[in-house]
Amino acid sequence: MTFDARTIRRQFPVFAGRPGGLPLHYLDNAAMAQMPRPVIEALVAHDSLSRANVHRGLHPLAERADRAYDAARTTIARHLHVADPTEIVFTSGATASVNLLAQAFGAGLGPDDEIVVSRLDHHSNLVPWLLLAKNRGVRLRFLPVTADGRLDVGKAPDIIGPRCRLVAVTHASNVTGAVTAVAPLVAAARAVGAKVLLDGAQMLPHGSVDLPKLGVDFYCFSGHKVFAPTGIGVLWGRRELLSALPPPMGGGGMIAGFDGDEPVFLDTPQRFEAGTPPVTQAIGLAAALTWLDEFDHHDIAAHERRLTEDLLDGLASFPGVTIVGPRDMERRLPVVSFTVAGAHPHDICQILGGRGVALRGGALCAQPLMNDLDLPGVVRASLALYNDEADVAALLSGLTHAIKVLA
Ligand code: PMP
Repeated sequence: MTFDARTIRRQFPVFAGRPGGLPLHYLDNAAMAQMPRPVIEALVAHDSLSRANVHRGLHPLAERADRAYDAARTTIARHLHVADPTEIVFTSGATASVNLLAQAFGAGLGPDDEIVVSRLDHHSNLVPWLLLAKNRGVRLRFLPVTADGRLDVGKAPDIIGPRCRLVAVTHASNVTGAVTAVAPLVAAARAVGAKVLLDGAQMLPHGSVDLPKLGVDFYCFSGHKVFAPTGIGVLWGRRELLSALPPPMGGGGMIAGFDGDEPVFLDTPQRFEAGTPPVTQAIGLAAALTWLDEFDHHDIAAHERRLTEDLLDGLASFPGVTIVGPRDMERRLPVVSFTVAGAHPHDICQILGGRGVALRGGALCAQPLMNDLDLPGVVRASLALYNDEADVAALLSGLTHAIKVLA
């Protein structure tokens, strides 16, 4: 199938509408992507015809829900090239995944241990580790950031020392769009026996992620950025590691039995999924990844790359605009942040929002990076496979207008 953004857009009901009476140029995909009809239909079909709690009931409807939920886990595992679906733990999102790991993995750590984080990461892969440092005395060390907004993995062997137990960094930045060079990080971590967690929240919508090939130990992401509903995310971990971690949350559905008054926990993934899981959302996530896998990932990447080049070239032609992130296209996502001299990011976003161009502005939950860059915030345009040249053109002409009004 040839890749055509306009045809793809027709699968998204939101683009048939005109929110606020304006055509929608949706460039806020890094915050939340839109859902195509097959995903919406999968959600409605499940809740209409197969809705029941899972792994509890013995009636036919419950068995149908069980099968759909278990199949969703298998589909998601396959998308990530993971052979064992029990390594997929459902959470409510990337934030919940990192918190789960911080509590479970962190339970065995203390003041003699170090965790390596970065100054580039989203707060959701930083604050849980800061809390762990506060609560258990674990020492955090920070990987620095290069001048063009990449993780400086060249410094990894200096920062990842013999006390390091875990390296927890992003696979791709939600601010600069830079994709992390994973191999040197993994090598530095392996050299000292440390584990690696990658935050794939921004990576997943833009191409295929092969977890065994990446060589990391843990991975997380959110459904809502990958064309799936809100309230669902994944923590992936190597089975032997997950099986050895204590469950941070207790409740129904994760107990094998009781030894006297002592609960005996089920193995992964159930031990981390206490309570009624997000069944419908998991089915929606599987539908979204199935939909995404119908496209050639190289086509998606080539299309997004073309648009990103146009966008970067267009932005560079404004004298007062500075791109915050790598200018070259090697290892970068279609997530483009910039500043406009003399204009606050929120004002730019508001003026462009008034023209139907959906952007995001501010610190983007990456305050340490903003502090390092000495910026109050940035404007971010983030693209997905359904964006096209008209979206980029609307942003650039809107920016011309906003600069006239503001600067
Ligand atoms: N990591 C990154 C890189 C993100 O961009 C985001 C969302 N902006 C998150 C984590 C957190 O995702 P969620 O809010 O869905 O938990």
